[in-house]
Amino acid sequence: MESAVDELQPPERLLMGPGPSETHPRVLRAFGTEPVGHLDPAFIEVMDETQTLLRETLRTDNQRTIPVSGTGSAAMEAAIGNLVEPGETALVPGNGYFGDRMAEMVRRAGGTPVTVEAPWGEPLDPETVADACAEHDPSVVGVVHAETSTGVRQPEMAEITAAAHDHGALVVADCVTSIGGVEFRMDEWNIDAAYAGPQKCLSCPPGASPLSVSDDAMAKINAREEPVRSWYLDLSLLDDYWGDERAYHHTAPINNVYGLREALRIVHEEGLEARWDRHKRASAALQEGLWALGLEPVVDESVRLPSLITARLPGGLDPGEVVETMRAEYDVEIATGLGAFADEAVRVGCMGYGARRGPVLETVGALGETLARKGIDVAPGAGVSAATDEFSR
Ligand SMILES: *Cc1c(COP(=O)(O)O)cnc(C)c1O
Repeated sequence: MESAVDELQPPERLLMGPGPSETHPRVLRAFGTEPVGHLDPAFIEVMDETQTLLRETLRTDNQRTIPVSGTGSAAMEAAIGNLVEPGETALVPGNGYFGDRMAEMVRRAGGTPVTVEAPWGEPLDPETVADACAEHDPSVVGVVHAETSTGVRQPEMAEITAAAHDHGALVVADCVTSIGGVEFRMDEWNIDAAYAGPQKCLSCPPGASPLSVSDDAMAKINAREEPVRSWYLDLSLLDDYWGDERAYHHTAPINNVYGLREALRIVHEEGLEARWDRHKRASAALQEGLWALGLEPVVDESVRLPSLITARLPGGLDPGEVVETMRAEYDVEIATGLGAFADEAVRVGCMGYGARRGPVLETVGALGETLARKGIDVAPGAGVSAATDEFSR
């Protein structure tokens, strides 16, 4: 009998938005590998290898470095839900969308979020963080290293953790859009808990998300008076599975772990620093292409994230219409701006397997044609030409 639903046949899009990014073909093959049981010694070996590679990629020695079952938001909620206890105060950044999400998670953990203000499109100032610590006495300070909503890279991470530690607070860092693409040094910067996602610069489909927690942070979790409100994300329970015991907690998403392991193996082969450099170079070419087409950067160059560029459109064009034409006519996915930039800017990702010559040229080429179609006075190939020049510099 014929099925009522056709065989799966998604369109072939080039994914150059804020994530998911292009999947690496080797990662996709790893996803198709036959699963074994989640307690099989063969899988336990895969777990160990994945943890080792994760530590290397996050630049940490933390024993508790695991893939959380779920997307980046699950790893985020694990970090916040475990570290923030009812009645405690947590500082969250006010300069982007993901700080707001942190605040909501703090509230649901029973804590009180206090926003450290900075304008959208700018980073936090460590002095403002220090002042807020002195005023509010938080137990946790949240910071977004790579703010995907605006394209800001938070500099001075070590200064921020120093300010928090001076006041006895632990630091939770969001490195979802930096892991494997933008310089991030968990231990050197004294970060207590860091979470990430696989579908940005690691070029792995979403579903198993990196989380690393220091011994100090784990000591706070183990000393909690009230159990973590989420059973699923309770790190003291997850320790039984990912720690020495290897006891059942929940069934790990076997194939997601296979995929993440392969993505991290690729990072290891390429070299982390070479990879940071590749993202910088591909992003520089992408940016030259955008500026040649008349777009304008929203974020100052000194703190601009290589992996996500927010750019104002010329001629008052509607970002939603540009994104729609790019998708429908050219099969290229980019995204509109958010918050303060929603009506005027697009966001273009330069992540992982997409941070290469081919995808960058295809994106700026499609954008040039889109702008020309919409009546902007620009040579459609101007972006490709400028990006090519930058690549061959
Ligand atoms: C994508 C992203 C998240 C959320 O990850 P999901 O996988 O969508 O749950 C969190 N923080 C930042 C900075 C992100 O870019």
